[in-house]
Amino acid sequence: MSSLPLKKKVKKFAKEQGADLVRIAGIERYDDAPQNMHPRIVLPNARSLVVIANRISRGALVALGKGNHVSYNCYGYGGLCEIMRKTMYSIMCFLEDQGYTAVPIDPLHSLLTDAPARNISLRVAAFLAGLGEYGYSKVFLTPEFGPRQRFGVIITDAPMESDPLFSAKICDQCEICVTQCPANALDPDRGIVTKLAGKKVKHVYINEARCAIQHHGLNADTSPFVSDPFPFNDQYDDFATIMDRIPPFLDDKKLYFYQRFHYEFGTYSICGARGCIRACAKHLEEIGRIPAFSTPIPLPKEEMKASTRTAGWWAFESDSA
Ligand code: SF4
Ligand code: SF4
Repeated sequence: MSSLPLKKKVKKFAKEQGADLVRIAGIERYDDAPQNMHPRIVLPNARSLVVIANRISRGALVALGKGNHVSYNCYGYGGLCEIMRKTMYSIMCFLEDQGYTAVPIDPLHSLLTDAPARNISLRVAAFLAGLGEYGYSKVFLTPEFGPRQRFGVIITDAPMESDPLFSAKICDQCEICVTQCPANALDPDRGIVTKLAGKKVKHVYINEARCAIQHHGLNADTSPFVSDPFPFNDQYDDFATIMDRIPPFLDDKKLYFYQRFHYEFGTYSICGARGCIRACAKHLEEIGRIPAFSTPIPLPKEEMKASTRTAGWWAFESDSA
């Protein structure tokens, strides 16, 4: 058995098992978190969280920009979560072999809104483990990949000290995420400010219903499955309702491919996060805040344009509480 301290051993092992990024948040980081979001609602004697991230394949974003929705689903969304489960499982067994309990919060999380474990936010855990910052869009940004990753969390009773919180800046408040969102789901006039580990965290309000309609491929701008606007945009209230309304809206041929897409790949993700991931990553590469590549991320339908509006609510808030 190696003589490394437990935290170093876990991090080394996680990388060997395929995690791109791994950091630790000690449970004290949750001291000012709302009680209904506390990891101890899932594991009462939790002492730390292992937070891993794996990159959304940049090549899958290139393929998506050229009309290949399957590539993004498999290497950027549902399929990527499958890949991450193997890494998560190995880390959980590693901890368990040393006598600790390791509780997984899956990269795809829970669909049940009243399940207590649903409140364990992957994004909050990533922030508290020091992996990066909240972007203006609420999508989490890291210096390695910008908005281009997914997270998995393991809550454990193993005692491990926190990694430092992230203190640099990645997001430049360009608002390209807002202008490129095909759903107008991000409201730049409505800022949300919360406090995590003594720091103020800021992002814009996101209308999740509008976003979900894109995600499920019901916007002709971003989806190969529809040619008409979805007629129930303002009436959507939950996942089940929207799913009930889709079949009569699609003609038989498109319905067959639509259902087959879900059947074969498990998730939708048909919008491919055009604004909050693709356009944001392209922008951050262009301004040098994350590593750049010679092949650009394609955004064929509209030109990238930074907003000239001033986000007043953002500027008023200082970074420390
Ligand atoms: S697109 Fe611009 S404003 Fe939006 S999160 Fe990315 S860097 Fe921030
Ligand atoms: S996932 Fe798509 S619809 Fe949702 S906020 Fe991002 S760009 Fe907009």
